[in-house]
Amino acid sequence: MTLSALDRPIQFVKGVGPVRAEALGRLAIVTARDLLYHVPRRYDDASTLTPIGRLEVGMEASVVGRVRSAGVIPTRAGLRIFQAVLEDVSGMITASWPGQPWLARKIREGDRILAAGPVKFFHGRQLQPREFTLLGRDDDTVPSPELGEGIIFTTYPAGESVPQWVLRGIVRRNLDELLKAVAEEEYLGADELESLGLPSLRGALERLHRPSRMQEVEEGRRRLAWDELFFLQLVQALARHRGAEAEPGIRFTRTNALIRPLHEHLPFRLTEAQARALREIFADMTSARRMNRLLQGDVGSGKTVVALFAMLLAVEEGRQAALMAPTELLAEQHARSLTELTRPVGVKVRLLTGGMSTVERRDRLAALASGEPQIVVGTHALIQEGVELPRLGLVVVDEQHRFGVRQRMALGEGEGRPDVLIMSATPIPRSLALTLHGDLDLSVLDELPPGRTPVRTRIRRPSRREEVYRAVEEELKKGRQAYIVYPQVEESEKTELKAATEEFQRLSEEVFPHRRVGLVHGQLPSQEKDEVMRAFQEGRIDVLVATSVVEVGIDVPNATVMVIEHGERFGLSQLHQLRGRVGRGEGESWCAVVADPGEVARDRLSVFESTTDGFRIAQEDLRIRGQGDLFGDLQHGRDPMLRFADLTRDEDLLLRARRQARQVVAEDPELAQPEHERTRRVLLGRHRERLELWKVG
Ligand code: ADP
Ligand code: MG
Repeated sequence: MTLSALDRPIQFVKGVGPVRAEALGRLAIVTARDLLYHVPRRYDDASTLTPIGRLEVGMEASVVGRVRSAGVIPTRAGLRIFQAVLEDVSGMITASWPGQPWLARKIREGDRILAAGPVKFFHGRQLQPREFTLLGRDDDTVPSPELGEGIIFTTYPAGESVPQWVLRGIVRRNLDELLKAVAEEEYLGADELESLGLPSLRGALERLHRPSRMQEVEEGRRRLAWDELFFLQLVQALARHRGAEAEPGIRFTRTNALIRPLHEHLPFRLTEAQARALREIFADMTSARRMNRLLQGDVGSGKTVVALFAMLLAVEEGRQAALMAPTELLAEQHARSLTELTRPVGVKVRLLTGGMSTVERRDRLAALASGEPQIVVGTHALIQEGVELPRLGLVVVDEQHRFGVRQRMALGEGEGRPDVLIMSATPIPRSLALTLHGDLDLSVLDELPPGRTPVRTRIRRPSRREEVYRAVEEELKKGRQAYIVYPQVEESEKTELKAATEEFQRLSEEVFPHRRVGLVHGQLPSQEKDEVMRAFQEGRIDVLVATSVVEVGIDVPNATVMVIEHGERFGLSQLHQLRGRVGRGEGESWCAVVADPGEVARDRLSVFESTTDGFRIAQEDLRIRGQGDLFGDLQHGRDPMLRFADLTRDEDLLLRARRQARQVVAEDPELAQPEHERTRRVLLGRHRERLELWKVG
């Protein structure tokens, strides 16, 4: 493969050289391509600039002017102020930067600068820039605002090592050549571009560096967003193809021998959403394609029943099904509820955990190795430690979000290619789900079974904590149980432990001295953790003090109170998960968040107070935190971040990218056809790490 001009080291780009190359390296600009993709972070439309002559005290304004004179003025208080007189054709103004005398080395007479900030009254009008950009000394390509509208000033991400005007100069000198080179990488045809409503690659980058209207910036961004989304989806479509289609899976036949009787004995009707998910799952399982499906649904939406029907389809066929939970305690809980649910149809449900006696374990292993059709429940160790399941037909994984891409990819590598169903109780916006899990098919339970009473939620200031405790005590008197949760403290594990331990002591000795109070935190060995949780589950503890480790799926129907301390430190989704611990039984439940909210937290907390809909919460979380944060949380084996795509705005692009990527892979999985030649080159050239992560490299 020939190297493109874009792959040449930045040092060899006009106007750079070894010294500047090193400085640019600090901005992650290593090749010519990096320079081309280093797009401005800010755009100021000339129509938003104010002629200097028209500045008035009290305005917030952006101006472009030339520096007439500049210098540092000492004040009596010892503060040194840098001042520059700025001029354009309409007038002059003093710009003043208190406490920044070092600017004298940067801003000199004759420079043109773009400055933005408030105009104050101080010996007349004075501009106090919050932000400024050096436009370069003799840069007459940057005209005055009077010269007309349609001029947009760009500000690049720059740093101490590379001043703004230097970067702008380098870009300007090289842009046309770089644009010509990038045109060679265009993989979309004219008609495709038109139907997507996107500019060419070259057009997009030109719009981003040299927009002539504000709207062009957005057009350019969307094109680069498309590229990101498309190649991510393409890699995932390839992974999906490898996982599901390249070799056939099991084609299950539905006899209904177990499914029908279970359906008849179920004490409730399936929700619409459950029925839909089941149709999707059965369609996958009865086709020759191997199933690789994500079942997403909020806490309590009834995922277990759906998984059970899927497992019965496998068992009907004379096969085994495995359900894997993240902890032993959760495995036990699943085994209990599955045993309960399958009683009418008499399927064997077996639990396999590390806590079993050697004899017990040996018996179980032998039963499994016999290949007898049945359901086996355990932790991930179930498949990792080579438990013999000769007729394994379906693997169900619970609580998938603790699972990175890498582990997920390892799942399907076993013998016999069982179908895979992954369940997640973390509702995330559809756009994010499709981005993180583009290799999977998605079923969503977006509906709760009828008759649930929503958990009442109250936000309380710390000054009302006593009141909250009294309300907790009222519930305890009725024989209910309560959680009191503290945030994990970031600084150090020791601090976290100390905070939780101290609070535990205070609560058990001073607040609830006559109650049984338990403590669980992240530093406990998992066996002890399980022990405390079990005691709580069995009602031997009234109040459980916990850091946010409270098991995601833990089910204690008698617990009706959730108190969250320092609520302002929790993210929305985390709050939602915690609230999901209550409201699982007959009793009416409530959640109190003790918080001292600042501006940001207030927004978050009022969303939390106003809805219990996990998907709405997830959408708001995405809006408030931005996708970067969410990516960090949700993905362990981390994919390089999306820089241009914005999942809150680009869902339409994402869906098209996904459809197109899947279509390409369906038609030409090796990307060997001539019309995919460029796509393939870009993929192999620029997405290697990603291909490796998704095991398609
Ligand atoms: P999830 O795993 O999604 O949090 P579960 O599968 O544990 O939810 O279901 C929560 C509770 O709701 C269980 O007690 C289950 O028996 C019950 N349930 C599930 N589906 C329905 C339904 N369609 N109607 C009424 N109750 C249901
Ligand atoms: Mg569950």
